[in-house]
Amino acid sequence: MAVERTLSIIKPDATRRHLTGQINARFETAGLRIIAQKRIQMTRAQSEGFYAVHAERAFYNNLCDFMSSGPVVVQVLEGEDAIQKNRDIMGATNPANAEDGTIRKDFAENVEANSVHGSDSPETAAEEISYFFSQIELIG
Ligand code: ADP
Ligand code: MG
Repeated sequence: MAVERTLSIIKPDATRRHLTGQINARFETAGLRIIAQKRIQMTRAQSEGFYAVHAERAFYNNLCDFMSSGPVVVQVLEGEDAIQKNRDIMGATNPANAEDGTIRKDFAENVEANSVHGSDSPETAAEEISYFFSQIELIG
């Protein structure tokens, strides 16, 4: 197991319900360090660029609307096996299928407004981190 970095996003449904602190506590309790973090509101174009990999999916347009509909907190998490560990803490995409005690089980509103994003591989983690952060903003 190696120390990794992963991109996390606290989505608009969660910032709207003031869940940033509770979600961050789950990361830190699990041993993931928040080494960069900023609150932004994505433009529609920025949201489209971030989710370009999903451009052909039926949910893409609604997803881009949703992700640019309010503030998000973009952050870089660092720790042992951080990419998979964060996916485990998040839970399944659809909260109806998420394990008890996961962020999505406890906080998500539905399969779209599911409170958090997390990178799914080392390659996407590197791409997604560089989409929002420059090297000088990562304080490891
Ligand atoms: P994950 O965020 O778990 O990696 P995906 O990469 O498959 O999931 O999808 C990206 C995001 O698109 C999801 O987090 C969710 O917000 C949205 N999404 C995924 N599937 C659906 C769906 N069937 N209907 C509506 N939105 C969806
Ligand atoms: Mg994904």
